[in-house]
Amino acid sequence: MTQLILLPGKDRSLAHRHPWIFAGSVDRLNGRARPGDTVDVVAANGRPLARAAFSPESKIRGRVWSFDPEEVVDDAFFKRRVAAAVERRTILPELREQEGLRLIHGESDGLPGVVADRYGDTIVLQLTSAGADKWRKAIVGALHKATGCPRIYERSDVNVRRLEGLEPTTGWLLGEAPDERLTIVENGVRMKVDIVAGHKTGFYLDQRDNRLMTRDLAAGRAVLNCFCYTGGFSLQALAGGATSVLSIDSSGPALATGAENLALNPQLDASRAEWREADVFNDLRAMKNSGQRFDLIILDPPKFAPSASHADSAARAYKDINVLGFRLLNPGGLLMTYSCSGGIGPEHFQQIVADAAVDAQRDARILRRLAASPDHPVALHFSEGEYLKGLLCQAD
Ligand code: SAH
Repeated sequence: MTQLILLPGKDRSLAHRHPWIFAGSVDRLNGRARPGDTVDVVAANGRPLARAAFSPESKIRGRVWSFDPEEVVDDAFFKRRVAAAVERRTILPELREQEGLRLIHGESDGLPGVVADRYGDTIVLQLTSAGADKWRKAIVGALHKATGCPRIYERSDVNVRRLEGLEPTTGWLLGEAPDERLTIVENGVRMKVDIVAGHKTGFYLDQRDNRLMTRDLAAGRAVLNCFCYTGGFSLQALAGGATSVLSIDSSGPALATGAENLALNPQLDASRAEWREADVFNDLRAMKNSGQRFDLIILDPPKFAPSASHADSAARAYKDINVLGFRLLNPGGLLMTYSCSGGIGPEHFQQIVADAAVDAQRDARILRRLAASPDHPVALHFSEGEYLKGLLCQAD
């Protein structure tokens, strides 16, 4: 097999089981390899280290499939890894009953570049690396075998594919579009999932536990849900007895789906909900000036910093909305604030929120540190997996 030979001293991160091999660590390729081919990763002194997928166009030149340099990467390998990922989701009781569930979370499940989300009996697959792309058929077969799901739809229409020299692609890989629209029940609330045109694979599964926490906190509170998308936090807040829920997003279609979701849940009091199409930055400022105040504010913005190089501008944007969030809180109010930017770590985010409270002249404390739900595990050796972090703060 072709060998990917590392420069002297560049085997350290592999020794720590980090699965990425950057171009700058590579000395040379001994043989030929096409994008996505499996190569033997070898230290400068000739010691075999791992088996990885080769990606000539990406800065991440190799992604490790196995740290066992002898393990064969074939259909059976994907069957084992996919089955283990699916099995892992049965360990925690609360995951067993979820209709919407992330089955494969990339590197943290030992499958770099592979994301698979299950909505009822439909799986949405996203392949973002040359290696994952190459093994599409094996992964589809393994998912079908491990879950019995009759339908698999591909949503590989993300820009990061271009970094790997891959074109965007979407379509049915197994079965065909169901007749009825797809919905899931999440903690007692029915939600529409648009797997074709929705964000990510259709839904933000990572916030499931945090949305549930909102339900537990909402009773008797006036709630503001910023960046609401299709209303996941809003509906849980209504379920928890919020006195009012104002939901803001800049996307008209997302808001329309939010209103449809509310209609799918006749148990909720729709008269308490208001949906507003607006830019959150402008709208929060306007509400601050008009004196409108809330008891629970959720800030779940899009990824401002996809990588560390965007961290400075992203930090300013996070600070801006958090200053406004603190200013709009009634005394004793709660702020649930998030960052899903890989380029901003948990400590940095906490510093930003602390600075925001200072600017807003509010004293506040952290009641809980928040993260993605456990169907988005974080491999101990892959801190990049910890992209979503949040704080539940209470202000004086
Ligand atoms: N909290 C949501 C997910 C939020 S995703 C959930 O639980 O499902 C981020 C959302 O921010 C997207 O819906 C996007 O349309 C919206 N958005 C991005 N920039 C915005 C802006 N400047 N003002 C308002 N909404 C914005």
